[in-house]
Amino acid sequence: MFDLQDLYQEIIIDHSKRPRNFGALEGANRHAEGDNPLCGDQIKVHLIVEGDTVREARFEGRGCAISTASASVMTDTIKGKPVAEVKALFEQFHRLVTGEEEPSDDVLEVDRLGAFAGVRDYPMRVKCATLSWHTMNAALEGRDDPISTE
Ligand code: ZN
Repeated sequence: MFDLQDLYQEIIIDHSKRPRNFGALEGANRHAEGDNPLCGDQIKVHLIVEGDTVREARFEGRGCAISTASASVMTDTIKGKPVAEVKALFEQFHRLVTGEEEPSDDVLEVDRLGAFAGVRDYPMRVKCATLSWHTMNAALEGRDDPISTE
């Protein structure tokens, strides 16, 4: 078993208890649903994309602390960013939580994404952390088939 105290860092606890950007999004023009059956995490991501920019991002659903915190931090992080930058962040986050890339101070401090690097030793938790990102990416690409981690 993983060490909860190591894994559930302050950022994760905070964002899972008080998720930001939670709920429906009026005027959203991109939607996607994601499902992580191994853990039971389910999420819907709503975006407002204007031109090449993600203007607004919100999410709904239920899941474990890591999936909720990840969705909360993600929606905070991508708001106001160009779509190309959001896609690059998705790739970077994926490398971070799968252990392919070490967290930099930038990522840790500015975007708080580094907090999730601790899941890299727990393959099931990696799926919890990446579910919202995969779902968001599907929304950006306009896919309407539900995303599943399996
Ligand atoms: Zn989970």
